[in-house]
Amino acid sequence: MHSLFELQNLRAVIPSSKGNLVLVDDVSLEIRPKECLGLLGESGCGKSSLLTAALGLFQITHRFKDAKIRQDWIFPFQFEYESEETWNNTVTGRSLYRGVDLLSLSSIERARYLGSHISYIHQALASALTPIFSIGNQTSEPLEIHQPDMRTEKMRERVFDYLDLVSLADAKERYVLDPGKFSGGEAQRIKIAMSLIAAPYLVIADEPTSALDVTVQAQVIGLFRMIKKEFNLSVLIASHDVGVIADLSDRVAVMYAGRIVEVGPAKEVFHNPKHPYSQGLMASFPTIQMMRMAAGGERRRLRGISGAPPNPREIPEGCAFHPRCPFATDLCYTTKPRVANLGDEHLVACHRYHECPHEISSISG
Ligand code: SF4
Repeated sequence: MHSLFELQNLRAVIPSSKGNLVLVDDVSLEIRPKECLGLLGESGCGKSSLLTAALGLFQITHRFKDAKIRQDWIFPFQFEYESEETWNNTVTGRSLYRGVDLLSLSSIERARYLGSHISYIHQALASALTPIFSIGNQTSEPLEIHQPDMRTEKMRERVFDYLDLVSLADAKERYVLDPGKFSGGEAQRIKIAMSLIAAPYLVIADEPTSALDVTVQAQVIGLFRMIKKEFNLSVLIASHDVGVIADLSDRVAVMYAGRIVEVGPAKEVFHNPKHPYSQGLMASFPTIQMMRMAAGGERRRLRGISGAPPNPREIPEGCAFHPRCPFATDLCYTTKPRVANLGDEHLVACHRYHECPHEISSISG
């Protein structure tokens, strides 16, 4: 099928005097028209870095994050950035939107696509909205940039329509308020309205439900379901939450230590995961069957994955998952697994995918 957005051999590193930190390592993925692709992995596996690298925002995000604050009496807060040259070639590979490589464009050319063709809802809920501008003002910003000829009155109506769409209560009265007057769930819905207002073809959301309580999470998931159905656009959702990904995705890509270790149709990846990491993630997720068994007196334990994702400065040799993998052999310690095609668009990178137990129950104890 023709892809809308395609990553080819994407790699992103942070330069450092103690050695480069590899955050994204040779990732190839595609997103098709009208599909929802779920990007699943624990925190620290490189999901956010992948998204920012794909959109040409990696350097600016990390240069800012890594800037040192220099304080002196005259200018108390000055930021010292690493030099521009240090960051050259830190992102390599291609990020193709309808065949156009976003990474080969200047930032001004790329801005033509961001916000209008592709929207990005980034993770940090608290800092996503500018505290000094009203939410009406911020929601209309994509229109001001991408449709500058639109009349102010029409723009305001469009803002109300989209704030209504995401069920923001009393939008017509509250659109003049600043973000501090809204709850976390409302702020997330405002960001979703903002991401849709310029009618993009692809919405990318990074951990859209993190830091929200469960009822608000359910509302946000409901909103994404509505977006998929009513707007017919493509969605890429990155989350550590197996439930969120299971709820929304048509296909799933599992990420570990900067690499995609398994990708396939959601049903296949959830019911027949082949990579031990995917199996571990699924086994750490409570199922209805498990709850029924617990209610009937039969106890069944959830089992997590021992250990934690590796520090990007110290990615293990061979298969990066080997220190945590119950099935690792000598080969896994020395040789990176190649991607095997299992048919029906199911791909996995593991030396022992055909030997590892297929039933989740076998590792969920
Ligand atoms: Fe485990 Fe080896 Fe497969 Fe890696 S390649 S997931 S260490 S069995």
